[in-house]
Amino acid sequence: MKRELTEILACPVCKGELELSVKEEKAKEIIKGSLYCAKCKVHYPIEDAIPNLLPPEESA
Ligand SMILES: [Zn+2]
Repeated sequence: MKRELTEILACPVCKGELELSVKEEKAKEIIKGSLYCAKCKVHYPIEDAIPNLLPPEESA
């Protein structure tokens, strides 16, 4: 995903802002990392350049 996408993406639970942390970046694309919601204290993983914004209930 593009770094700019962070500004568009919102937490699926509270619609709040997400904090980006990058583990792997290639050609201005974030390949691996996570998006963190400080309000919900939930990390949403970015895998294979695709942000996984499923609410945490999905994996419980
Ligand atoms: Zn949230």
